[in-house]
Amino acid sequence: MYQVKADGKVYTPAMHLTTPFASVVKFNQDITMTVHRGIDFRSLEKIVDDAVPNMNIFCAVKVKGHFSKIKTRSVPAQKKPYPPLTEVTKNQPVFSFEDISGTLVGFRSPVYVKGINVPGYHLHFISEDFTSGGHVLEFTLEEGTIEIDICNRFLMILPEGEGSFGRIDLGRDRSDDLEQVER
Ligand SMILES: [Zn+2]
Repeated sequence: MYQVKADGKVYTPAMHLTTPFASVVKFNQDITMTVHRGIDFRSLEKIVDDAVPNMNIFCAVKVKGHFSKIKTRSVPAQKKPYPPLTEVTKNQPVFSFEDISGTLVGFRSPVYVKGINVPGYHLHFISEDFTSGGHVLEFTLEEGTIEIDICNRFLMILPEGEGSFGRIDLGRDRSDDLEQVER
């Protein structure tokens, strides 16, 4: 596992480190495509949507290639009382890279996951030399390979017990906030 902290550096966290949220898959590619032209975030979405037109199923996406530019972000660690993500991302550190090789990984999730995950595309980047990366805001892929794993199972594991998770009011619809911070 790799962790991109707010200082922009890549860390390999200790195996006992916990995280409040994780989306994971055992990646088995169903579709592989090669691209040889400038592909931005929108064009990648179109390529995957055309390859997997069933928008009500999950896709895991992995893109290995060379990027003429890529812009990522990370968010600093937060303390209690935890502010909403819209507040946190106002001061988010943004990192820009040019002429860099690496891998994008992430998911296309269906609209109905609203509230428990991010509908649409959510991608993270790690450079080939494992020194830079982050949550992807925009990119131009010059050439590379797109792999798609079509995922028809979704398993959610929640914190049990007396922790703070059980006392948060999760009734408010935060989808507009999420839309604002994701791009
Ligand atoms: Zn992210």
